[in-house]
Amino acid sequence: MRYISTRGQAPALNFEDVLLAGLASDGGLYVPENLPRFTQEEIASWAGLPYHELAFNVMRPFVAGSISDADFKAILKDTYGAFAHSAVAPLRQLDANEWVMELFHGPTLAFKDFALQLLGRLLDHFLTKRGERAVILGATSGDTGSAAIEGCRRCESVDIFILHPHNRVSEVQRRQMTTIAGDNIHNIAIDGNFDDCQEMVKNSFADQGFLKGNRLVAVNSINWARIMAQIVYYFHAALQLGGPQRSMAFSVPTGNFGDIFAGYLARNMGLPISQLVVATNRNDILHRFMSGNRYDKDTLHPSLSPSMDIMVSSNFERLLFDMHGRNGALVKELMENFKQTGKLSVEDERWTETRRLFDSLAVDDEATCATIAEVYRDCGELLDPHTAIGVHAARECRRSMSTPMITLGTAHPVKFPEAVRKAGLDEPQLPAHLADLFERAERCTVLPNSLTDIQQFVAAHGNRGKPL
Ligand SMILES: *Cc1c(COP(=O)(O)O)cnc(C)c1O
Repeated sequence: MRYISTRGQAPALNFEDVLLAGLASDGGLYVPENLPRFTQEEIASWAGLPYHELAFNVMRPFVAGSISDADFKAILKDTYGAFAHSAVAPLRQLDANEWVMELFHGPTLAFKDFALQLLGRLLDHFLTKRGERAVILGATSGDTGSAAIEGCRRCESVDIFILHPHNRVSEVQRRQMTTIAGDNIHNIAIDGNFDDCQEMVKNSFADQGFLKGNRLVAVNSINWARIMAQIVYYFHAALQLGGPQRSMAFSVPTGNFGDIFAGYLARNMGLPISQLVVATNRNDILHRFMSGNRYDKDTLHPSLSPSMDIMVSSNFERLLFDMHGRNGALVKELMENFKQTGKLSVEDERWTETRRLFDSLAVDDEATCATIAEVYRDCGELLDPHTAIGVHAARECRRSMSTPMITLGTAHPVKFPEAVRKAGLDEPQLPAHLADLFERAERCTVLPNSLTDIQQFVAAHGNRGKPL
């Protein structure tokens, strides 16, 4: 499989190089040159497979030529065997023909484990084969950091540095990052906000001189491997509920458009999906596009669902590329214009065509808490605020009551106790493997909001705690 850039100018790469590259050299994002397509018979024949075997069938074409079947199978078995629920991504029924797919049974209790547990193992596989090491540098406002650290903690070939804004992530989220021990794990609290952290990561990718020739790898959702891993659970859910013989609708709590883009790809690969609901919080740039063809940058509004607090949506470019007949030059022009003006809209026909599949809703904190309370009252399922936004949007936007509606349950409610409290409910208990989280020792370095200080720290510790 070859991958091309959404801006049409970077060289095509194979899977291994895309995994290590992150962003394309022309500023675009990598996408498969040709999307694999499965027949209904083929998909139907996967019914009843364990999650890791289904994952192999769905992802095999994407990694073809880069890793052997046997190695890939072993990595997948190891990845998903470590999840705390034996069904890996179990479905819970909320109402007639309405479901939540629980994607929070991985080590850090959020769906990001599905991709980052795999990404860490794949990185280690390829780096070991090459006899190389890599430095991962990422910024987090909460969930990504712990999932990335958990995903890479056992990687011999990787040192991981995660920046978070000092005193501005929840205690559970901070402890999930800082209590993981390992001489290749480095938590840095920055005296600044999340945007400062992200800016420093971006600048470090742009000028890598401080790395003394070492490789820098991106683990945010622009990395293709993350999208790829998320395609699998759409197939998994559909196969549980009578697909592919009947079609499904999905509602997806969305920030950077990664998770829902995976659903869009599942559909283009042959899985019958009749509707995708984009569910946002007050940070609703995607809703403004889907409902009115206006992808316009706004200011940041902190919410009770912080993992979706974004101003721009980094994977949206991948959808734009398809919307414009995969014309990289057109996308480049649109994105460069957006960078200058903060505004983007597309031709009417392209937008109308997109709306045939996508609906959307922006849900505020009040409606989020009301949904948490309502669902708990009606069926005893305690939702986290992100998932509640998905359920609320699913119910408002549903096109057909006879089509199963599945909301992606993106996090365990224990990660977001404030929203649960505001919904008038008791805080949930930490699951068994995290029960002693508040007693574990923390490891974290506080640094000033300065690019030079960060880069010096990375250079001094980037080789298993020793200088590069
Ligand atoms: C990251 C995250 C999201 C948003 O996912 P995207 O792929 O950015 O759309 C939603 N919910 C939770 C709990 C998350 O951690």
